[in-house]
Amino acid sequence: MNFMNVKMNLSALTSEQLLSETKIVVNEERRITATLIEHLTEINQRLLFLKLGYSSLFEFVTKELGLSEGATQRRIQCMRLMQDLPETRQAYEEGSLSLSNAAKLQSHFQAIKKSGQTRTIEEKKEIAKNAENKSQSECDQMLTRLAPELPKPEKTRILSSTVRELKFNISEELFKKIERLKELLGHSHPSATLAELMELLVSSHLTKLEKAKGLQPKMVQKCDENNQKSTANSQKCYATTQKSADLTQKSTDQNSGEMGENPKTPQVKAEKGRKTDKSNLVHTAAKTLPVGVGVRLSAGIRVSLPAGVRVALPNAIKRQVWSKADGRCEYVCEGRRCSSRYQLEIDHVHLLALGGSNDLSNLKLKCRSHNALSAIHALGAAKMSSFRK
Ligand SMILES: [Zn+2]
Repeated sequence: MNFMNVKMNLSALTSEQLLSETKIVVNEERRITATLIEHLTEINQRLLFLKLGYSSLFEFVTKELGLSEGATQRRIQCMRLMQDLPETRQAYEEGSLSLSNAAKLQSHFQAIKKSGQTRTIEEKKEIAKNAENKSQSECDQMLTRLAPELPKPEKTRILSSTVRELKFNISEELFKKIERLKELLGHSHPSATLAELMELLVSSHLTKLEKAKGLQPKMVQKCDENNQKSTANSQKCYATTQKSADLTQKSTDQNSGEMGENPKTPQVKAEKGRKTDKSNLVHTAAKTLPVGVGVRLSAGIRVSLPAGVRVALPNAIKRQVWSKADGRCEYVCEGRRCSSRYQLEIDHVHLLALGGSNDLSNLKLKCRSHNALSAIHALGAAKMSSFRK
């Protein structure tokens, strides 16, 4: 069937032919979507999106490929379901399992896992089988019956250019706390709505966090003006491709602090026993460590940090790193800078494990995924894999 000619030939078709052709197009659409998901799987395994300066596969698909957020979310969830349960691909291609229901299944399995429960592969297969030939509503009902205790997924909906609708469940305990807060704010904020309370609390917390990280309040609200498409340039980044698992789902270090200290690397284990005590880091000009690097913090105070050793970076240095980076991941690929402001960590450009310094000039702010990618480039995927389990 020549799809280029479909539009001009449609009026010449009988109704029977039109219906028949439409069914062919629907099947073709499913086949193409399955092929797209296959391509996304390979891109994900190669971590191509990270190398191109995107912090996640989701960001890559929406910004580089131009799919809508909803369409992207469904395809990525379907991709993960097919990786876990390969037989669901056939069910999707045959039309018995819809893309929406496949995404719902995957979200359900993720929520089950997050709640601490487990589902065996056999149980998952059975649930997936039962989701076939069901409408979205029927699938929702089935999944709710299976785990009624799971919270409903949080939802955000754009109502206008300035207003969004948020939907989420809260515990009875939190509701009572909110009521108590309303009482205590009765004089300064009489009859405050939930939205007004949220504005008050979020603004107050943001100001505190921005100040702690050395950021100006306006920085968080800045648009990602540099986040332009650069497909042509991005092609050059393919050269160093290495296959690896999906970093976006694996944390290299759950202990990184609010100021984003670097995750543990092999060097960390080796150096753990001789981690430098923060109290030893502040010295006058007359007392510096032999292998140290001088970092001026303020008039009269100099901190000397040894190279090649993981130390607890002073907050003043962390604030300088955050401020220098404008509170945004500094990974750059051929002019494209990662736009992520999420889970930022302080990365040593020249790795500590290879003798890198703790000097400000050797420190960059990276999102967790790009920080891990840097470590893979430097140490190799095999060496890093044990730290991502
Ligand atoms: Zn990044």
